[in-house]
Amino acid sequence: MKKLRPFLSLVLVLVTTLLVSCSTPNKAKVPTVYTPEKIEQLQLYRAPIAQAREKMSILEEFINQENWVDTRTFIHGPLGELRQAMGSASTRLLQKDQKPSKAIAKELFSHFERIDAAAKDKNYSVAKAQFLEAAKDFDAYLDLIPSNS
Ligand code: ZN
Repeated sequence: MKKLRPFLSLVLVLVTTLLVSCSTPNKAKVPTVYTPEKIEQLQLYRAPIAQAREKMSILEEFINQENWVDTRTFIHGPLGELRQAMGSASTRLLQKDQKPSKAIAKELFSHFERIDAAAKDKNYSVAKAQFLEAAKDFDAYLDLIPSNS
């Protein structure tokens, strides 16, 4: 029994060291992973963006029909709110994801502006090409927001 004591105290020291090293650094550091709570929170911001992505099929249909009036109305209407939704979502991502998500959103809107200009010129091929680019950027943006589904 006497010989066990130094061993036990060594174990105690090790356990204490482990506990301390596991619990303290996280609070000071910038989070690098999404916790389940954070992911849950983000769904509130992700939902309207995912909905807008689904509505892109309506825009595609307008372009395919060369319906330039509705194409432009759509870009200035429903998609107008998207900018704000993306702004809110981007600032709630992990620090490392904020810059890329803002950059992708900016690019996405430059494609929308080019679709708008192409619609004004009644230029189907440019409108279609820009739509495909926009769809790609839209997906890349959504990929940056963790989803719980
Ligand atoms: Zn792009």
